[in-house]
Order: sequence, then structure tokens, then C-alpha cells
Amino acid sequence: MFRYPKPMARLIEELTRLPGVGPKTGQRLAFFLIDQSPAQVNSFVEAIVEAKRKIKYCSQCFHLTEEDPCSICSDLKRDKTFICVVEQPRDVIAMERTKSFNGVYHVLHGAISPLEGIGPNQLRIKELLARISPDIKEVVLATDPNVEGEATAMYLARLLKPLGVKVTRMAHGMPVGSDLEYVDEVTLSKALEGRREL
Ligand code: ZN
Repeated sequence: MFRYPKPMARLIEELTRLPGVGPKTGQRLAFFLIDQSPAQVNSFVEAIVEAKRKIKYCSQCFHLTEEDPCSICSDLKRDKTFICVVEQPRDVIAMERTKSFNGVYHVLHGAISPLEGIGPNQLRIKELLARISPDIKEVVLATDPNVEGEATAMYLARLLKPLGVKVTRMAHGMPVGSDLEYVDEVTLSKALEGRREL
């Protein structure tokens, strides 16, 4: 049986750890990388190392950032009394693309999912509650329109409403079971416009 030389086997193994990459794709990517020039491979490796070194989470909203606080939290033109709660940093990017939200964000870094063993304590929920002051006028829950996202929104609404803050949920009209990041801009901005109070 043919075996890959050790360094190649190791590269395939590392690549296969990436989400969505199975053994076949891992091999394909490894062959692709081996075919590149040393300069191209160095540039690729440096990009990973640099991103890992420089990117952190904003201490206010937990979005990915190079500077803390992030460019959204430190933007004086953004409405700090309106918080949009999302699951992932990529959802912030999706919302920003709509150009229809002028508030600030709070990134939970996941959704409650008993099946995957993700409970409220693994999400940035304490940090969200700590941001709620009498100045906050509205929190819109923009977790994904799937089972985990809905459960998370309901859980948050139960915690937030007793604090006296207006809590809203993105309107339906977004494809059920979808990921926020894959919803097109028009649908996403309509869902924001049509949000309802919980
Ligand atoms: Zn921020």
C-alpha cells in the first residue's frame, strides 16, 4: 500500500482538521500547496500567523478586531443604545453589508445547542447582560432562524425583559433553518425593518 512521505502525511492531517475538509479535499489541498513556489507558501503561512497574532475579540462586542474596541464600537456615529445580538463574527459582516443597521453588536460566539453540548455558559451571555443599562433602548435578537437560534433568542428574551429593555426579534421572511450569513442583503434588511417585540 502506498504511503505518503511523512511531511506530506502530516500536512494532509493538519488540513483535514479544517472545518468541511475531509480526507479527499485534504489531499487535494496538500498537492496544491506542494505545487506552489516557496514564496507563495511563505506568504500563505505568514497570513495565518499574522492573523492569529493580531486578531482578537473586541472587549465590548466580541467581534473580531485588530484594535480594541473595534471600529464599530469606537465609531461615534453609531447608536450605542441599540444592540444587535448575533451568533458569529461573520453575521456582523452580513448585517454590515445591508447598510441598514446603525447600532452596535454583541457576538455570542455560538447558539445554545444541547445536542452539541453548548450551554448558555459557553456563550457571551453574561457579557451581554453586563452591557444592559438604562441607556439601552433596544436589543434586537438576530440569532439564526433555526432551532438553536430560536431557542437562544427565547432564552435571552427571558433574561433581558426583566431588565426593562425593549427586546425584539428579526422578522420571519428569512428562510427558516438558514444561516444569517447566507441570507441576501435585501431579505436581511427587510427582516430588520419588520422586527417584532418579544
Ligand atoms: Zn466592538
